[in-house]
Amino acid sequence: MMPHVRPQGYLQGMDLLDFEQLTGRTRSHVRELNELQCTLHPQAAQAFVALRAAAATAGLDLAAASSFRDFGRQLLIWNEKYRGRRPLLDLAGAPLDISEMSAAEIVRAILHWSALPGASRHHWGTEIDVIDRAALGPGQHAQLIPAEYGAEGVFRQLDQWLTEHAAGFGFFRPYDRDRGGVQPEPWHLSFAPVSAAALTALTAEVLAQALTGVDLAGAEAVWPQLAEIHERYVRAVAAPSKLALAAPRLGMKRVSPAARPS
Ligand SMILES: [Zn+2]
Repeated sequence: MMPHVRPQGYLQGMDLLDFEQLTGRTRSHVRELNELQCTLHPQAAQAFVALRAAAATAGLDLAAASSFRDFGRQLLIWNEKYRGRRPLLDLAGAPLDISEMSAAEIVRAILHWSALPGASRHHWGTEIDVIDRAALGPGQHAQLIPAEYGAEGVFRQLDQWLTEHAAGFGFFRPYDRDRGGVQPEPWHLSFAPVSAAALTALTAEVLAQALTGVDLAGAEAVWPQLAEIHERYVRAVAAPSKLALAAPRLGMKRVSPAARPS
């Protein structure tokens, strides 16, 4: 039998995730990085190491608060929120009383903050929620709320630095603003050279396949609107810039004509 050889380098094969990888059913596409305390796709990991080194020159201690998350973990988060075992918050961040809500209302409320299992970008290994450890005082913990990344926030310097530099390393922010689905997440970085292809591959049909036979709380309210949920909570994200897709700071082999010196 021919050995299955994957070409080396960026954008040459490893950027394509299969069904199990896209929907977080396997860890075959990710590596645990002990020194960075996160789990990532190898290409995203390489890019994150480079991003972290560049951030350090600006006095930032870039760290991952969250990275790869598998299907089982996302299912647990979903079911606990649906059953009231984890707080469920409204858009203002206030706790909701689920005893007064319909199944459809609970599903909507969860979707503002958490993805359906199978639909989380964190399944891909390309997504990292980042903080600046250097900005935190002793005993202070990041909450991952937009105000921390705003003009008065503890991570304002990180936010500005990412805006200026992240794209060169292949990263962009898919939840940059409210598009009627997932709430803005200024801390959420995505490695575009791999995640752009993953988003295209994660169709509503793929998501339906991933959820078939799963013990999903609120399933009766999810299935009838799965296509709309996919459109609004999976597809409605920012598109990566050409710069992020080309990731020139990573020294990738393929250089777009626009990026060549004339
Ligand atoms: Zn995230």
